[in-house]
Amino acid sequence: MRFAIFSDIHANLEALEAVLADAHKRKCTHFVCLGDVVGYNANPHECVGRIRKLDCPIVKGNHDEQASLPESSSDFNELAERAIKWTRDNLTEEDKQWLRELPLQRQVHDFTIVHATLDTPAQWGYVFNNLDAAASLTYQHTTVCFFGHTHVPMVFIRDEAVRRESIEHIRIEPTKKYFINMGSVGQPRDGNWRAAYCIYDMENTLVEQLRVKYDLAVAQKKIIKAGLPRLLAERLAIGR
Ligand code: ZN
Repeated sequence: MRFAIFSDIHANLEALEAVLADAHKRKCTHFVCLGDVVGYNANPHECVGRIRKLDCPIVKGNHDEQASLPESSSDFNELAERAIKWTRDNLTEEDKQWLRELPLQRQVHDFTIVHATLDTPAQWGYVFNNLDAAASLTYQHTTVCFFGHTHVPMVFIRDEAVRRESIEHIRIEPTKKYFINMGSVGQPRDGNWRAAYCIYDMENTLVEQLRVKYDLAVAQKKIIKAGLPRLLAERLAIGR
């Protein structure tokens, strides 16, 4: 089985289609989504439809949660809040119900998936350092767990201690634990504008991080035409 694992699509349909096409080309047999299907960009309804059609395992992100509520219940910055209000108006009731009912975490074959953290998944904390990762790893009962939320690809490995690695190919060893972030499809924040995802090849115990070009200009035009903040279009080009 070859899993294409992707997160933080954020209503960027061009980036999502590019990732799915790349995954098909690379002979992926299964798809897994780590949440934040909506928020920020201009195609929330279309992205929900595309993911629903895949009928793949998925967990809920904080933007999925906020977009599916009648009004915001947690603090978003001004930019995210303006986008989430627009998103609410551009989703159907059926889209919202689907988003609302997504689970916070789940196991898929031999690995776990969660949007933010395993220790307190409903609080949407960010894992950027070894200490944050160690808290999640305490609750991790599978060798591998994939997470999203930060939009920055990084890998935490626990053997004697927890250490952070930035590697493109990860060989999974059963004596260790791996907490892996594959970055964001629709709004990367590591200074690289290309859509990020990873492939987990179960038989070969290999995780590969990938980047895919997509039609950035079209995604930007849609954001501006929708009346969403211009900054949301500009940040896509610089990967921040
Ligand atoms: Zn996100």
